[in-house]
Amino acid sequence: MNDHALILVDIQNDFLPGGALAVPEGDLVIPVANRLMDDFPIIVATQDWHPADHGSFAGNHPGKQLFEVIDLNGLPQVLWPVHCVQGTSGADLAPGLQAERITKVFRKGTDPAIDSYSGLYDNGHRKSTGLAEWLREQGVNRVTVCGLATDYCVKFTALDALAEGFAVTLHLPASRGVNLTPGDVDKAVEEMRSKGVTIQE
Ligand SMILES: [Zn+2]
Repeated sequence: MNDHALILVDIQNDFLPGGALAVPEGDLVIPVANRLMDDFPIIVATQDWHPADHGSFAGNHPGKQLFEVIDLNGLPQVLWPVHCVQGTSGADLAPGLQAERITKVFRKGTDPAIDSYSGLYDNGHRKSTGLAEWLREQGVNRVTVCGLATDYCVKFTALDALAEGFAVTLHLPASRGVNLTPGDVDKAVEEMRSKGVTIQE
């Protein structure tokens, strides 16, 4: 089992019900994730960690609407409400999560010019967070990915891990999605499955 790591994606206050960018039932992943940690010797977490002037925030684009898709430095970008600003309680890992069991936290989305859904790379694949390299140094070759949100950060983390050569499992009971458009989560799961991610129902 020492070659198998658990990646907890963005289980942060702002993505829970009542948060700035609440994922429906996002809080329900916490007890499942806590139990899941028993099975993994290596547990990492990703943390969305934006500066206040981040380009993914609708408020930083006067005249644009929430959830509108714009071009941000050459990449399509959904405009989100302000969320997970560095140092705010919204950016904290969920208090119910047994964070003391997490080996290492990888922060993403720190560059105002580009968003980072994946825990491994920014959306343009320009810069690595160091997560893939770190996992390899630990001898990891399999990862189980879960958290928030299935149709964004969980999906892109899983697909990037797959592209990096890891065997990837998506743990569905410990994940929830946004479904900005109904069906987005199902589509994301099918895309992951078709590309080679094992889906744990
Ligand atoms: Zn974000």
